[in-house]
Amino acid sequence: YARMAGLVREAVKVPTAGPNIVKAHNKKTYDYLVVGAGFAGSVLAERLASQHDARVLVIDKRPHIAGNAYDHLDEAGVLIHQYGPHIFHANSDEIVDYLSQFTEWRPYEHRVLAEVRDQLVPIPINRTTLNQLFDLDLQTDEEAAAYLASRAEPVAEIKTSEDVVISAVGRELYELFFQGYTRKQWGIDPSGLDKAVTARIPTRTNTDDRYFGDKHQIMPKNGYTAMFNRMLEHPNIDVLLSTDYKDIISEVDAGHIIFTGPIDEYFDFRYGKLPYRSLRFEHKILDEEQFQPVAVVNYPDPQVPYTRITEYKHLTGQQHSKTSITYEYPSAEGDPYYPIPRAENQDLFKKYEALADATPNVTFVGRLATYRYYNMDQVVGQALATFRRIDAKRSADAAA
Ligand code: FAD
Repeated sequence: YARMAGLVREAVKVPTAGPNIVKAHNKKTYDYLVVGAGFAGSVLAERLASQHDARVLVIDKRPHIAGNAYDHLDEAGVLIHQYGPHIFHANSDEIVDYLSQFTEWRPYEHRVLAEVRDQLVPIPINRTTLNQLFDLDLQTDEEAAAYLASRAEPVAEIKTSEDVVISAVGRELYELFFQGYTRKQWGIDPSGLDKAVTARIPTRTNTDDRYFGDKHQIMPKNGYTAMFNRMLEHPNIDVLLSTDYKDIISEVDAGHIIFTGPIDEYFDFRYGKLPYRSLRFEHKILDEEQFQPVAVVNYPDPQVPYTRITEYKHLTGQQHSKTSITYEYPSAEGDPYYPIPRAENQDLFKKYEALADATPNVTFVGRLATYRYYNMDQVVGQALATFRRIDAKRSADAAA
């Protein structure tokens, strides 16, 4: 299978208790080349290796596994998330049961506060937010709903994110919580963003201040990377890090490719680049035990350059005399994080998707290959569904 024999070296094993991390890809033949060691790639590698006895080479251009969910101990020994806070929440028992093979969990309910007018108030907006911010004494859901309704401004046809929010809570709350934050986050005014973006942020009339309503709100007990280590720890799986797909593809002749990188990159940006919003993360270690009352505090004020600060010990439950925090600065340049939700971008993606559909022996899966903002559980669900399709085809081929 090696087309460029000179470049193919014997595998050099790095001593590790986790997955079989190699320094060069093995001379043995692989059934699958998996590009990307995030959730999409790792779930598929694990399923194919364990259920089909397939030999799998997983590569990632980054020097670590776990994709954007990568966590590690920083210099102070505090467990941090390299690419911003990753909070696991899911409704599907199947997805949680699947991941539970590789980790134990700790219960964690996410709560977020926003700094508005020098106060920290719950977000999504709930009754406590209204009472605190406007010095009210709303006692019931009905009173809160009536208050919001009194502030709401009718919008003839709801098209944009601005319309969604103004029609629900009125202009003042829109400006305090949404306008500045959205401008910072997306680099676009909410009036220019599809209504779907803000439709994800509910407003409540009760005092429930949990950020998510999912059935399962849990965090992997020893972190995400430890979970990925166990997922990829299979004798049929080799992992090759710091390796770009482009640098290795001519050397590997795997029967099938699972591609979880950016779909436009795979097709050499033939129709142009799919637009993404990026982030710059500033990680800090503080010589104090606790910095803020909850894991995440949002800063909607347009004068503040960052959108939020995360303090990880709330998420992980770690006890430590120091604490580590991360500031997030949205940016136009950098790694692709959030697909920009505009109709013309979806149209562009559809053109790439048509190319993907016409590319045999390559399966495109994960957030970058399908140009969708997916939560971790959704990517696991997508990868498990992809495996089921591969499995069904294999059974059909065997029967034929
Ligand atoms: P990724 O994790 O991005 O993995 C893809 C991998 O492919 C990457 O490691 C990349 O290096 C590699 N790759 C790309 N191109 C190449 C190439 N050419 N060659 C080799 N390797 C390549 N989800 C939640 O459920 N809860 C949260 O709280 C949450 N918070 C988030 C916060 C932020 C700031 C971001 C950006 C995302 C968040 N997510 C959250 C979403 C979560 O990160 C994704 O659902 C998940 O990482 C998707 O997994 P994936 O495998 O599709 O992609």
